[in-house]
Amino acid sequence: MKAKSIFRNMWMLAIACFTTLVVMTSCGGDDGPTPEPTPTPTPTPTPTPTPTPTVEWTAVTAQPDAWDGQKRADMTYQLLVYSFADSDGDGMGDFNGITSKLDYLKDLGVSALWLSPIHPAMSYHGYDVTDYTKVNPQYGSEADFDNLVSKAHAAGIKIYLDYVMNHTGKDHEWFKSATTALKEGKDSPYLGFYTFSQDPEGDVKAGKFPAVDGYSSGEWQTASSGDEVNGIYKFVLDWNKKTVTVTKATKADTSEGTADKFLYYGDGVCKRFYDKGNGVYELTVNLKTEWGFLIRTSNTSWDNGTKYGATSGSSKVTLGKAFQLDNNTAADIKFDFQEAWYYHAMFASSMPDLDYGKLSDVRNNATYKAMLSAAEGWVDRGVDGFRLDAVKHIYHNATNDDNPQFLKTFYEDMNAYFHKKGHSEDIYMIGEVLDSYTVTAPYFKGLPALFDFTYWYSLESMINAYKGNTFAYEVLQHQQKFASYRSDYLYTPKLSNHDEDRAASKLGKSLPKEKLAAAVLLTTSGHPYIYYGEELGIYGTKNNGDEYVRSPMLWGDNTVTSSYTSKIDKGVASSIKSASDQAADANSLLSTYRTYTTLRNTYPALATGKMTRHDTYNEANTSLAGLAAWYMTEGSQKLLVLHNMSNTTIQVPLTESISKAIAVTGDVKQQENFSKLQMPACSSVVLLLK
Ligand code: MG
Repeated sequence: MKAKSIFRNMWMLAIACFTTLVVMTSCGGDDGPTPEPTPTPTPTPTPTPTPTPTVEWTAVTAQPDAWDGQKRADMTYQLLVYSFADSDGDGMGDFNGITSKLDYLKDLGVSALWLSPIHPAMSYHGYDVTDYTKVNPQYGSEADFDNLVSKAHAAGIKIYLDYVMNHTGKDHEWFKSATTALKEGKDSPYLGFYTFSQDPEGDVKAGKFPAVDGYSSGEWQTASSGDEVNGIYKFVLDWNKKTVTVTKATKADTSEGTADKFLYYGDGVCKRFYDKGNGVYELTVNLKTEWGFLIRTSNTSWDNGTKYGATSGSSKVTLGKAFQLDNNTAADIKFDFQEAWYYHAMFASSMPDLDYGKLSDVRNNATYKAMLSAAEGWVDRGVDGFRLDAVKHIYHNATNDDNPQFLKTFYEDMNAYFHKKGHSEDIYMIGEVLDSYTVTAPYFKGLPALFDFTYWYSLESMINAYKGNTFAYEVLQHQQKFASYRSDYLYTPKLSNHDEDRAASKLGKSLPKEKLAAAVLLTTSGHPYIYYGEELGIYGTKNNGDEYVRSPMLWGDNTVTSSYTSKIDKGVASSIKSASDQAADANSLLSTYRTYTTLRNTYPALATGKMTRHDTYNEANTSLAGLAAWYMTEGSQKLLVLHNMSNTTIQVPLTESISKAIAVTGDVKQQENFSKLQMPACSSVVLLLK
C-alpha cells in the first residue's frame, strides 16, 4: 500500500513537470528548442499522457495595400520658418528653404503646413507682429512667399498661417501712432485699437473695458518710456477761482517773479510766479518732472493750507484746460498725457492687447475690421487656412462665451470671404486654447478645430507609466465632449509643439517610446499635427529657454539655421541622425513616421474613420493594463489597432476575424491565424479585419 502510494505520487509529479514545461514554452516565445518530455518511469502504467501540442509563434509582417498616391488623410506639419530650412546661407530659415524641402514633406505624406508667424515682427519667434499685411523680409520677398504657396499647392500641400489676433508688437505702427498721440495730447485713429487708461484700476472697476474683467497691476504698462515730462510749459493761476491752466510754450522765463505763489516741481525746484494783477499769476518754465507739480503759497513751509494740488490722484491736468486746485487732499498734479497705461493681459509688455470693443458690435469695430481685412488679403494670396494664436485671451470674461462668440464671428466672416473667392469647401481654421480639453471644448461653438492638448499629456504620462488600457477611453471622452459643442468638429491630436518640451525629451530620448508615440498619434482618428523634427527625434526642453524646443531642423547637408539665437544645444545635431540618414534607414524614427503616414493615406478607416472602444481590451479590463486597443472604421473597412505601452512582452488573445496585418512596429508574433498575438514592449500592430 505504502509502495503503491509513493509510486502514484512520483507519477503525478512527472505529469506535473511535463505540463509545466509545455506551458512555459508557450508563454516564453519561440526562443530555444522545444524541451524533451520527462522520460516516463518504468514499469509503464496505463494510460500514457498525451503531450500538449507545441504551437508555433510566427512573426507578424505588415502587408499593407500599395498606396495609390491619393492623399486621404489630413495631416499637418508644424514648422518654424526661421528654424526649418535656410536657402541663402544667412543662418535664418526662409520661404525658399521651405520650398526646397517640399519633396521631403511630400514623402512624409502631410497635407498641410502650419507656418510660424510670417509677418514682420520684433522677436525671432514672430508672435509680436508689426505688420499683418506683409511678410518678414528676413524670410524672403513677397514673391518668395507666393512661390512657396503655389509650389506647395502643386505638391498637394496646403498652407496655414499663424495669425496673432490677441496682441501686436509694441513697434506696430498702430501702437506707435496711438502712444505718440497720447503723449502729444492729439488724436489718432488707432487709440481705440488698444486699451489705454490713465486710471486702470478705476476704469476697470467702473466696467469701462468690455474685454477686461478684473484689475491686476501686472497687466498694465505705462505707455510712455518713463513718466517724465520734459518741455517748456506756461502756468497761469486764477487765484479767484483757484485754478491753474497749463499750455505748451516756446520760451521759458529767464528769471522768476516776486509773487507769494510758487510752482514746485521736479527735484525740489520751487519758483515764484509773476503777479499779473487781479488775482492772476503767470510763470513759464522749462519743466522737467516725473511726479508732476504742486502750487505752494510758501517756499519755506509745508504747513496746512500752503500746498495746492489735485483733489485726487486720478484727477489730472489737461493742457489748455483750467484745472481745479485743492489744498485739502492736495495730491501731486500729473498731466493726463503723462501717465497713460496700456493693457497686456497675458504676454510681455512688448505685446499690447488688441481691443475689439463690445462683442455685440464687433463687426463695426475698427480693430476687427483691420484684422479681418489683413486675413482676407492672405486668402487672396492663396493661403488655405489659419491657426489662431492665444484665442482664450482676447476677451477676459472667463465666465461667459465672449471668446467663442468672437471666434464664431471671425470664422463666419472669413468663411464667407473664402467662398466668395471661389472655394467650394469651408476655410480651415484652428484655435489654440492652451488648456485642458474641458476648457477647450466650448470653443468649438466658434471654430471647427482646436488642438487637444490633453491628448499628449495623457499619452506621454501613460507611456511613461507603462499603462495603456484607458487611453482610448480618454480620447473618446474628449471627442464626445467636443461633439457636444459641434457635431462636425475636427479632432486634432498632437504630440509636442513650439511651446512645450519636445516629445523626445518627455519620453526620455527612448527610440522605442518615440516610435510608439508616433504610431499612436497616426492611428488615432482626426487630423493629427506633427511638429517639425519630432519625426527625427530632435529633443529639447524649455528649462533654459524656448529656443531649445525650436532648434534647427537636421537636414544632414551642413545647413544649420541658427543666426537668430545662440541658444543651440550642439548635442542634438551630434546625437540625432539627420533627415537624409534616417530616410535611408528602414528602422529609423523617420521611417516609422513615413510608414504610418502612408498607411493613413492608404486606408480610409485610418484617414477619416471613426474610433471606437475595443470590446475586450478597454478601460474596464485591467488584465492587460499596458495594452491600448481600439477599432477604426470607415464604411465596410474596419481596423484593429493595438499598442503595447507596457514595459514587458504581453500575450493578447484575439477573437476578431483578421484578414492581415497592415502595420507592425517591433517584433510582434502571432499564433493560429491571429488567435493570439505576442507583443514586446513599445510594439504596435494594425490589423485589417475581415
Ligand atoms: Mg535664409
